[in-house]
Amino acid sequence: MQIKNKTIWITGASSGIGEALTYAFAEAGAAKIIISGRRVAELERVKNTCPGNPEIIIRPLDVAEHDAVTAAGKEVEATQGGVDILVNNAGISQRGTVLETGLEVDKRIMDVDFFGTVALTKAVLPGMVARRSGMLVAMSSLSGKMGVPQRSAYSAAKHALHGFFDALRAENTHHGIKVLLVCPGYIRTDISKNALDSDGKKAGKMDENQENGMSPEELAQRILQAIRKEEREIYVGGKEKLGVFLKRFFPGILAGILAKRGASGEN
Ligand code: NDP
Repeated sequence: MQIKNKTIWITGASSGIGEALTYAFAEAGAAKIIISGRRVAELERVKNTCPGNPEIIIRPLDVAEHDAVTAAGKEVEATQGGVDILVNNAGISQRGTVLETGLEVDKRIMDVDFFGTVALTKAVLPGMVARRSGMLVAMSSLSGKMGVPQRSAYSAAKHALHGFFDALRAENTHHGIKVLLVCPGYIRTDISKNALDSDGKKAGKMDENQENGMSPEELAQRILQAIRKEEREIYVGGKEKLGVFLKRFFPGILAGILAKRGASGEN
């Protein structure tokens, strides 16, 4: 799908990957970009920093408030002339083992990472189907392809996105709907600082792997390329991408590597 003159809605646009995507879409000639997140001051900053000249609409949204998400989806579809590309990017990660983590933390991560995305997608999809055109982008992770230590709920939520969006694609390809699942490895953002620990508090620590990861700007360019080429699923990052290959062809080797990591407590 072409990006020029399109209306794009990005959740989690107040930092990291969502912020980089906002700038990349603007530079690529998007006509209108709706940016969402909970921190309005950060959304204002992104709007003021944004290059190019798209119309930027700030739409504050907590994706864990599912009724509000449904209402926002319907409102934006009705008032903004229809969303061409919805980027479901908002998400929180996790640092805590299954043994130590309370069920409330698991539910919180599912509410943000999975049900938030589902609620918004369901609100926007009917308009896309009526127009017989639209692209849904879901921010998964390499943790959506393999279960990673200290990220059980996060891995579960990201795996769930694959089931949901693969089924949605199968049901709606004949309606002109495209679906792209993005699986990044380590990207240099605040994701590990914002991750929930076993008590549901912010982990507050920049992981070494994150610090040394790919820039969000490079990932954003790869995502735009995948949108233009209408790819279905992409893996982006450094050598951690090999995990997807190992999982498919040598699952025992990957299980061994991850078990070693689980035993060491490494993030
Ligand atoms: P950041 O922590 O920088 O960004 C997370 C974004 O999600 C923020 O804009 C935040 O906005 C938003 N967000 C979090 N909770 C909510 C909520 N309840 N309602 C609305 N918005 C929310 O991390 P990244 O940019 O790295 O993360 C973006 C996505 O990329 C996530 O889905 C993450 O899982 C995924 N990802 C990241 C990887 C990485 O290595 N960085 C690797 C693989 C996937 P606000 O706080 O203003 O609400």
